[in-house]
Amino acid sequence: MAESIKISKVQSLKVSNVMEVIVDDNFGAILPKFPDICTCDQCLADIKAVALNKLTPHYVASDKGSVYERANLTGMLYKIDVLRALTEAADIVYKNPHHSQG
Ligand SMILES: [Zn+2]
Repeated sequence: MAESIKISKVQSLKVSNVMEVIVDDNFGAILPKFPDICTCDQCLADIKAVALNKLTPHYVASDKGSVYERANLTGMLYKIDVLRALTEAADIVYKNPHHSQG
């Protein structure tokens, strides 16, 4: 019965954004374009978040193995978009880093 489903069950369901996997795969490719960019955890996380916000998410219901399979397939289709989003995101973070300076 639908009304008997508990929120804890819903929270345990595995969904993943394939775009996140593709962004991770292509992250290293754009960093050399920004030789002076800060690579602290805060800035790298900011780049990833900004890039993902620019991209349409592609969620799939699956375990990690098939997420990587899907990412391999869709990665070819979206690689240009992902590289563009990552480059724009790195440029934004490079010009306006949010990390705390010591
Ligand atoms: Zn930083």
